[in-house]
Amino acid sequence: MRIDCQHVWEHISAYIDGEVEAVLRAEIDRHLETCEICSAILDSTRNVVVLVADDRVFELPAGFSRRLHDRLGREMELAGP
Ligand SMILES: [Zn+2]
Repeated sequence: MRIDCQHVWEHISAYIDGEVEAVLRAEIDRHLETCEICSAILDSTRNVVVLVADDRVFELPAGFSRRLHDRLGREMELAGP
């Protein structure tokens, strides 16, 4: 099974939550080792999850999801087919 960047992005929140099956997790791990884009996205997504999980900080900047979505779209274009 080979996965591409888009697969990683689709599963990234489940991956962070530890909810992806072992086979998929291994594929994502392997992809992250070689893909700077997905590593960067994982880092920033993880930061957000930490913020959300922290009771002290519950508000994300307005439009955050929109910006993340736009960013994913842009990087998807950069990543090519
Ligand atoms: Zn990637």
